Amino acid sequence: FLKGKTALITGSTSGIGLAYAKALAAEGAAVMINGFGDADAIETERKALAETSGAKAAYSPADMSRPDEIAAMVKACEEQLGGPDILISNAGVQFVSPIEEFPIEKWDQIISINLSAAFHAIRAAVPGMKARKWGRIINTASAHSLTASPFKSAYVSAKHGLAGLTKTVALETATFGITANCISPGYVWTPLVEKQIPDTMKARNMTREQVMNDVLLAGQPTKQFVTAEQVASMALWLCSDGAASTTGTNISMDGGWTA
Ligand code: NAD
Repeated sequence: FLKGKTALITGSTSGIGLAYAKALAAEGAAVMINGFGDADAIETERKALAETSGAKAAYSPADMSRPDEIAAMVKACEEQLGGPDILISNAGVQFVSPIEEFPIEKWDQIISINLSAAFHAIRAAVPGMKARKWGRIINTASAHSLTASPFKSAYVSAKHGLAGLTKTVALETATFGITANCISPGYVWTPLVEKQIPDTMKARNMTREQVMNDVLLAGQPTKQFVTAEQVASMALWLCSDGAASTTGTNISMDGGWTA
């Protein structure tokens, strides 16, 4: 149902972002992927996405901590694929540390990639969406946009900010056929989660198993990790006609964590 539409998904060489790209391509959307990783692996994914969609697929290496590169990415999408009609700001990084030891450069990096990058991308993409009178802005926030955990000061701050940005953009675009929403997953088993286990073990003086069961899944009543495919299925729904009145929301997919 997305034939003729173009989706730009940041941070889509891995995890949830790649699942979004696959789901949107399966509905026929042209997709631009973005993120870091092995060049050959990325090219293999890009080709597979084009085969799946029967439309074009492109890759942007833009660094989401660089406003100039973000603007250039949106322009490249417009030139190479058209759109973007669907913009998913998903790139995100994590760092876990007590606040008094939290490295200042890590704070700045997380705020720029997890929050400011969405501002820069939306700012560049909205004029085209307004002109075409259709747009879907989706931001991957987190359960941490609604609730906090210790040792994640930058991440929790950035995700709360992203939820506020989303609501503001929803109000500004409401009469243009554009919706803006957050999807807020609980713990999804991706490289981002796997990578924070060693630091959490150190910060809380715990074993790997204790971190998995007593920290990550402790607050998730289902006792299951959310899957990237489940998150992607929500993005598909937000792109559907049935979601045209759903704007400014923050949709939890967290196994009951924030209930
Ligand atoms: P991931 O580490 O698997 O993927 C992150 C992606 O972002 C990768 O493609 C990476 O290359 C890209 N990226 C990182 N820094 C970048 C930069 N400076 N410029 C461009 N791309 C960059 O992580 P994931 O778990 O799939 O996370 C995706 C999003 O989902 C993040 O915003 C994260 O905060 C959010 N989230 C994840 C979980 C979870 O449990 N995994 C839960 C809630 C929210």
